[in-house]
Amino acid sequence: MGFEADVIVVGGGSSGVAAAVSAARQGARTFLIEKNGFLGGTATASLVTPMMPNQSKGNNLTGGIYQEVLDGLARKYGGSERFSDNNPGWINPELLKTYLDEVCQEAGVQVFFNLELVDVVRQGNQVEKLICYLNGDKFEYKAKYYIDASGNADLSHLANVPMLSDPGRQAMTLRFLMGGIDLARFAGWIKEVDPGMRDSAVFHHPNGNWMLSTAHTLDGPGWVLRPYFEAGIAEGLITEADAAYFQVFSVPGMPGVISFNCPRIETDTPLDPLNPADISYAYTKGRQQIARLANFCKAKLPGFEQSFLMQIASQLGIRESRRIKGTYVLTDEDILACRKFPGEAVAKSSYPIDIHQASPNADKGGLQKLKDGDYYEIPLRALEPQGVENMLVVGRCISASFVAQSSLRIQAVCWAMGEAAGAAAAKRTTPTPV
Ligand SMILES: Cc1cc2nc3c(=O)[nH]c(=O)nc-3n(C[C@H](O)[C@H](O)[C@H](O)COP(=O)(O)OP(=O)(O)OC[C@H]3O[C@@H](n4cnc5c(N)ncnc54)[C@H](O)[C@@H]3O)c2cc1C
Repeated sequence: MGFEADVIVVGGGSSGVAAAVSAARQGARTFLIEKNGFLGGTATASLVTPMMPNQSKGNNLTGGIYQEVLDGLARKYGGSERFSDNNPGWINPELLKTYLDEVCQEAGVQVFFNLELVDVVRQGNQVEKLICYLNGDKFEYKAKYYIDASGNADLSHLANVPMLSDPGRQAMTLRFLMGGIDLARFAGWIKEVDPGMRDSAVFHHPNGNWMLSTAHTLDGPGWVLRPYFEAGIAEGLITEADAAYFQVFSVPGMPGVISFNCPRIETDTPLDPLNPADISYAYTKGRQQIARLANFCKAKLPGFEQSFLMQIASQLGIRESRRIKGTYVLTDEDILACRKFPGEAVAKSSYPIDIHQASPNADKGGLQKLKDGDYYEIPLRALEPQGVENMLVVGRCISASFVAQSSLRIQAVCWAMGEAAGAAAAKRTTPTPV
């Protein structure tokens, strides 16, 4: 059976939804192919919330469909909230799934769920068709233009686009949610142990909700939660690896729930997110770490007395795997010098270089901020794969150095590049009205 469109987007995460909605709004008949049974990608399947701030001098650098979706999600479902720093990206992953269905429907995007791209037929410099898989059957999908928003660059890989990859240099994380937490009590305790808000942020929203985050790492002295983690290790509740990195956030529309950006799954030899055995090992190890961390929180953190493990992400969080080689490769220097690309920029980002250590034996990584108040731009050329003319690539797998990718991978930036690529694809496939 065959299906035909003007534009086909593979992957319904942040960049893919933005690309599909943008292309459809420009009049292109648009398909969105997603292997999960819902949209949102890493934001929903891997429970990555909140979206990190992308700001310059207090102003948000991503507007467009990103801002529109967050506003609509807040208005219709109470599924997003703005933090005191003006970041609008605190999201509820379950409500985001529902709202993204509506956004795609309204734009006229035809979404195909549980459909996985498994092969690509290429004719010279063109992708001719995609082979997709559902329940033991294969289906052909054809378009004039394709957008790879698969995160792992599956479409580009299958189309033999050259790659620039260092899989395994960033740690993978299996995220989880805990419920039954007394957030007011937890917020009060954070303010007590971290009065200067060195490692934490607490905002009592005018609507009465507690918004908060706190973090800890075993690296370096001074982390305010260190004594609690040391006690947990001494009592055998958690291991040093469990305590290596800890970060938590409240979730809009989920009273009493905390989202965990941990455990980081560190191993002596870094795990490769493209290796089937490593992926399976990471899920198993991650779930064991989560069980210990949940016990530790219940035993040691005020507010967690009645807490319970509520949800483990169905999809491992992969920060970096394949990156394509495009007609331009965004470099470390472009990021650090806050380089602009006049006339060809598709996104702006001020987010720091952010590398999560994959192994105790690997580079420490960490955060490196950009020039205060400044930002860099991403040119369209970094989305254009070498050797294929009817395709653009968006999201965390664009053409960038390892270091540059560690900054541009945040969701707001993925939304911005998706929106620009969708519009560019539509323009290249649909006749201009006269
Ligand atoms: C643990 C972790 C913590 C993070 N923390 C933050 C944070 O706090 N804030 C922030 O803003 N960013 C954070 N990030 C980064 C950010 O979440 C991701 O980089 C971003 O969401 C990636 O968006 P994307 O559109 O490129 O890909 P994704 O959101 O991963 O979407 C790709 C989609 O493609 C689908 N797909 C893949 N292959 C196929 C195929 N063959 N056929 C069909 N469908 C396919 C997938 O199912 C998925 O839905 C974090 C990432 C991780 C892993």
